[in-house]
Amino acid sequence: MIEVADLSKSFTLHNQGGTTIEVLRGAALRVAPGECVALTGPSGAGKSTLMRLIQGNYRAAAGSIRIGGVEIAGADARTVLALRRTTLGHVSQFLRVVPRVPARAVVAEPLLAVGTDPAEADAQACALLARLRLPAPLWDLSPTTFSGGEQQRVNIARGLVHPFPALLVDEPTASLDGANRDTVLELLAEAKARGAAILGIFHDPSVRAAICEREVDVGAFTPGPA
Ligand code: ADP
Repeated sequence: MIEVADLSKSFTLHNQGGTTIEVLRGAALRVAPGECVALTGPSGAGKSTLMRLIQGNYRAAAGSIRIGGVEIAGADARTVLALRRTTLGHVSQFLRVVPRVPARAVVAEPLLAVGTDPAEADAQACALLARLRLPAPLWDLSPTTFSGGEQQRVNIARGLVHPFPALLVDEPTASLDGANRDTVLELLAEAKARGAAILGIFHDPSVRAAICEREVDVGAFTPGPA
């Protein structure tokens, strides 16, 4: 479902005399439907960079990224946006808070984008917020003033409300208490059970052990000294 082959990424630092740094060389991985794979490796290895490449936020220097057979490396913005709407879900580490939009609408939005009836989308959004123990009085408020853990739960609900066949998750349990952490693990297990391919960054080894079938060490794709 998620296939990365021979992927390389360099950054050109325009504010530092145009110096180019190579972050990834020959990165390769596959995530099958129903499988969860963790990206591991030391800080600076390129885990976040690899996630951003797969999400279509960064342009690759070389190589291939296929999601459900669609090539993302070098794809135009329209292809990337269509893929994110229908196929590739994303739970980022931090919610990008939209002022004045209530939490329930933030969560329902991915369902509305694929044509779900608005009442049904709202019902599903509220059910997920309830499952993640977000107090009902908060559902009608913008998450701008929510705590870190409350924002993270809105973010998780938004990323999981639509049954995307491929999911990228970045530290989904970092600011959560034990009960909510377990609920997120349950939701990810349910996504796997319905066939989602999940690729994630999980710093907590017990979370990795609970949810991941395999680990891919991104350090193996860090170029050595020239
Ligand atoms: P990790 O997530 O494994 O900690 P990152 O992917 O964040 O690693 O970073 C890998 C390397 O790429 C680091 O050396 C970082 O400084 C560099 N890097 C990441 N993003 C950028 C960027 N936008 N511009 C320049 N360098 C970057």
